[in-house]
This record gives sequence, C-alpha cells and structure tokens, in this order.
Amino acid sequence: MTEFARPGSPDALMSFPARYDNFIGGEWVAPAKGEYFDNVTPVTGQAFIEIARSTAEDVEKALDAAHAAAPAWGKASAADRANVLNKIADRMEENLQAIALAESWDNGKPIRETINADIPLAIDHFRYFAGAIRAQEGSLSQLDEDTVAYHFHEPLGVVGQIIPWNFPILMAVWKLAPALAAGNAIVLKPAEQTPASIMYLFSLIGDLLPAGVVNIVNGFGVEAGKPLASSPRIRKIAFTGETTTGRLIMQYASENLIPVTLELGGKSPNIFFSDVLAANDAYQDKALEGFTMFAFNQGEVCTCPSRSLIQEDIFDEFLELATIRTKAVRQGNPLDTETMIGAQASNDQLEKILSYIDIGKSEGARLVTGGERADLGGDLSGGFYVQPTIFTGTNNMRIFQEEIFGPVVSVTPFSDFDNAISIANDTLYGLGAGVWSRNGDTAYRAGREIQAGRVWTNTYHQYPAHSAFGGYKQSGIGRENHKMMLDHYQQTKNLLVSYAAGAQ
Ligand code: NAD
Repeated sequence: MTEFARPGSPDALMSFPARYDNFIGGEWVAPAKGEYFDNVTPVTGQAFIEIARSTAEDVEKALDAAHAAAPAWGKASAADRANVLNKIADRMEENLQAIALAESWDNGKPIRETINADIPLAIDHFRYFAGAIRAQEGSLSQLDEDTVAYHFHEPLGVVGQIIPWNFPILMAVWKLAPALAAGNAIVLKPAEQTPASIMYLFSLIGDLLPAGVVNIVNGFGVEAGKPLASSPRIRKIAFTGETTTGRLIMQYASENLIPVTLELGGKSPNIFFSDVLAANDAYQDKALEGFTMFAFNQGEVCTCPSRSLIQEDIFDEFLELATIRTKAVRQGNPLDTETMIGAQASNDQLEKILSYIDIGKSEGARLVTGGERADLGGDLSGGFYVQPTIFTGTNNMRIFQEEIFGPVVSVTPFSDFDNAISIANDTLYGLGAGVWSRNGDTAYRAGREIQAGRVWTNTYHQYPAHSAFGGYKQSGIGRENHKMMLDHYQQTKNLLVSYAAGAQ
C-alpha cells in the first residue's frame, strides 16, 4: 500500500497555488469582477483553492482570444496540429502521477484509477486524434470528363465546450482533442465542483499551444456557462451534463442555429443470463466483477450499470455471490493505492444519493447491503463517502428510473430473453448497457435489441479512444471518441469546378 502525500504537503508530487485565474489568450487572467469561489476537496470536505467566478465579460474576453487565434490554427497543417497534440500527450505522460494526484484530490476518485485509467486514457485521446487528423482525406467526385466536385474538410472556427465534474480531465480531453485536431479554437468551461485539476493541467501544457487556441473560463452554470452556450460568436456547442441542462443548451443553440452535441444522463441495464453461473470458473468471476462495476468511480459515471437484471433461475445465487463481491470493494482514502471506491465529488451529490437511498427504502425496495454514509474516521469524516448499496425491487420504482449518479444498484429478476429486453428498454435513457452470456447468439441479439448507443458484451466500463460513444433517446445527440467525431468539428466545403475549355 502506498498513500500519496496530499497536494501541497512536504512530500507531495504537486501543489496547487492559492487561487487559479482564467486561462485566456495563453495567460492567467483575473476575472473581470474580481470575484472568486472556494473549491472543496471531497477527500476531507475542506476548501483548498479559490477559483475565478467568471461572468459574461470574461467569456467575451475568451471569445476575443479564440477568434484571434482561430484563423492561423485552422490553416496550420495537419502535421503541425498533430505535433502539438503529441507534445501535449508526452508532457502529460511525464507528469502522469502529479496530474493523477491533482485529479483525485479535486474529484475524490481513487488514485489507482486516475493513474491507470483517467489520465492514460486522456493521453491516448490526444495521440489518437493526432493520428486521425493526419490520416484524414477529402474526396473528389468526377462529375464528367471535365467537371470535378472537391470535398474539403474545414474547421468550424470557434467552438464552446461545457463539461461536468465526474471525469474532469478526461471529459475535457474528450472534447478538446478532436476539436483541436480538426483546427478549431476553443472556449471551455469546467464544472464548478472540479475546476482545479484542469487548471493544473493547463499550468503544465498551456505553453505547448499557440496563445488563444484553448481558453478556459471557470464559474457557475448560469453565470458563465449560459453566456458561452448562448453566444452568437461560437459555431458549435458541445455539452456533457444533465439531461435537463442539455435541454437548455439546445434552446440557446437554436437562437443562433448552431450545431450541438450532447452527452447526457443514463440508467444503464446490466443483464446477466442464466449461463453466467456454471462451475466456479474464470468467466463467472468476470461476470461477478461486471456486476460490481456500478460502484466504479463511486457510481458517478453516465453509463453506470445502475440497473442489474438477473435471470430468475440464478437470481438468488448470483445476487448472493455478487453481494459478497460488493462488500469486498475496498472503500477508503482516495490517495491510497489500495482504495477501490473513494469520495463522491461534492456534498450536494452526497446528499442527493442519500435522499435516493431513502426513496428506495420508502417505496418498498429491499436493501441488500450498504445504504449509509460511510465514516472513514479522522479528517476523512468530513469527506463525502457513501457505502456501495444494493437494492432489489421492480423497474417501475424511482430508483430504477431516475439517475442517482452514486454507488447504488437496483436489481430485478427477468424470466426470459424478451422480458430482459423489455425491462432494459423501459427507460427514458439509452446511453450504455451490459450483456453477460456465454452464448454468442444470445449476447449478439441482446446487443442489437437494446436501445443504447454503447452495449458492452462480457465486459463493462471500457472507454478506448477508437470506439464511438454516445446516447440514444434522452441520453444525447451525437457521438464522442472515434475518428467519426471529427465530423462534429468540421464542415464540408464543396468546390465544383469546370475544366472544360469552352461551353458544355
Ligand atoms: P450539470 O448539467 O448540472 O452541469 C454540467 C455543466 O453544465 C457544468 O459545467 C455546469 O456549470 C454547466 N451548466 C449548468 N447549467 C448551465 C446553463 N444553464 N447553461 C450553461 N451551462 C450550464 O451536470 P452535472 O451535475 O455537472 O453532471 C452530471 C450529469 O452529467 C449526469 O446526469 C451524468 O449522467 C452526465 N454525464 C454524461 C456523460 C455522457 O457522456 N453522456 C458523461 C459524464 C456525465
């Protein structure tokens, strides 16, 4: 076991300054109104840094800088842009543990995940889009002997991006990497709960980008997010967050007739067919691990497998084994490398989860394990920890229908294939799903029939850069990851040219 020293303490790998201003035009710029807000670490519940509380004036400054930078960046060769992205990836790799520490401190997630997943995935995202943009080609249609239609990819120009708090750096990079590769300049607003790690990242990589190509403005949703999303000076808005906020973003965008991509909420089903239980073999072990994925990242994942559907003939036995497995998930200090589940990102989120646990109890769901705030003692008592919680009940209950965004799974039995699909699809959402079966035909058919943008089969929670990610139904519009993402940050220029010597 290693416990990383807290940021700022004598042995720590990194420290935060007393405050972060906005990052605009390659410089640290104080907010126009001179106001700051406290950022709290979920590890202890204590404030550790002040962050710029920005308003429309700051967003305008950032847009000025982005507009000044956009033409040159958009015209830079794909090779030059790819070089910058690769240099960012290299710099991040050199500082992997320090960035991971900043992220765990800001968000409360375990350091073993930030070191092994969040930050490496972010690094790979930059590298993937550096490669994708170099491999991209336009097209040419030969209309007749002397007439040609060329199709060029052109950047959109200046784009806005607004992100949530559950994977602060990874969500930022999911949006930054394709937008930069495609040649856009960006104004990004982090979530007010987790602004510090992104600013720390930019203190490390900011010099690698031409000034103004990426600008980061912090603040609250209505004060800073709305002026950005509703600005007539952006050519696109990309948003990840709650479905209710997504609706507002679409309304703002409709005023300016700009494209939106939305990554929103989910209530993902994780389906276990009877054949997962057999001998006590490696596959069964993997399936049980798949069940516990509801607690991954404290359940603060838009694709959290928050509804488990277990075939009725194995229901009791599977649930018993899965409960033993869940109880073994080690909760603790996020800076301890043995910790598997850390702290919820904010006190508001902690209270929301606890209120859903009360709702589950009052609507008659059976509490199998967990169901309480976890007190880890010492100064961690002030942190935002919740025990991994399992309920059983029926799919019409609120805990099966509403997004809790915490380490809470609602489990229900199903009779046969059709019943499983019907329960799985009985939701407003359609982001992720899991299917577990040794039978390839069952797994394939289930994967095709579930209305969700990403269906994992015999695995869960993998997020490679080259695999399209996004929602069906009310879980969103558009995709992230994969080179198809470039289409969301480019427009097509068609030149229709006649080379004929005379009239045709
Ligand atoms: P949120 O919608 O409250 O906030 C997200 C961001 O939007 C924040 O930066 C916030 O400041 C900003 N915002 C809030 N109101 C705004 C407004 N009126 N105008 C402009 N910006 C505004 O969501 P959250 O609570 O931070 O994030 C949790 C949600 O995000 C969950 O529902 C989760 O499912 C979803 N999520 C989805 C994905 C995905 O890829 N689909 C990924 C992560 C999180």
